[in-house]
Amino acid sequence: MSAFATRFAPSPTGLLHLGHAFSALTAFEAARAAGGRFVLRIEDIDRTRVRPEFDAALLEDLEWLGLAWERPVRRQSEHMADYQAALDRLKARGLLYRCFRTRREVLDEIARAPHGPGDGGLGEDAKGAVFRGEPLPGDREAELLASGQPYAWRLSLDRAREALNGFDRLRFVEQGRGPLDETGVVAVDPMREGDVILARKDVGVAYHLAVVVDDALQGVSHVIRGEDLFHATHIQVLLQALLGLPTPTYGHHRLLLGPDGKRLAKRNGAPSLRDLRLDGATPETVRARLDLSTA
Ligand code: GLU
Repeated sequence: MSAFATRFAPSPTGLLHLGHAFSALTAFEAARAAGGRFVLRIEDIDRTRVRPEFDAALLEDLEWLGLAWERPVRRQSEHMADYQAALDRLKARGLLYRCFRTRREVLDEIARAPHGPGDGGLGEDAKGAVFRGEPLPGDREAELLASGQPYAWRLSLDRAREALNGFDRLRFVEQGRGPLDETGVVAVDPMREGDVILARKDVGVAYHLAVVVDDALQGVSHVIRGEDLFHATHIQVLLQALLGLPTPTYGHHRLLLGPDGKRLAKRNGAPSLRDLRLDGATPETVRARLDLSTA
């Protein structure tokens, strides 16, 4: 077996639709073509949005589609100690700072001092904005801590840059098509993402950190995923450098669009794989509809 390993990493926050099927099959077929491994990882750290019935449904839908994966499946919620250990290492090196701001305060701050195209860790509605903060003065922080105010941990890009003597050497290989057709060797520019959150107030860890730890632990050599996550790669490669983890090769594929020209999503009426199945679709008709050769 080759050293090639890729993964599909859904979050069980809804039913899978054609966009997910496209992503899962693109990765699965790449593993098969390379004679490599295919890993399924359930990204379920967001306790506020994850539901067990979606977890069960996605396994069933992927099996129905004809995918097979290594067992046991890794569920992020069962491995919080791994993420905590990585956070502790970054904290010990002074690379993180506590952020007590509310979402509203972060958005207001971004509006006052926009830095670039990331989302400040705030998701879709804050796209186009980047948050760069700084640690609070010690006495103010002590006061907030004493009052039990919740806080997130953010990565300080300034300190990360110092720790690495600049970001110039950070690179990744893109074998897919980034949104700007940035194929080939891509220079990493974490500044465009801002001081991202690595541990959320509510769940104690955050997406970028968990993904980087897991990709390394699971021996993922190729991250194959939608081009909506291309920007995330810039932060993830930086985290790999800070944590001494290998950088996989990346392949970002095109996104399936709905009739409105926007990316397929539940909110613009994308039918779930379940709905399609009830309507008589078979795994073969789904594959034919996806036209995998154009990933
Ligand atoms: N869990 C993420 C999602 O559902 C995917 C993460 C990744 O592929 O890196 O969009």
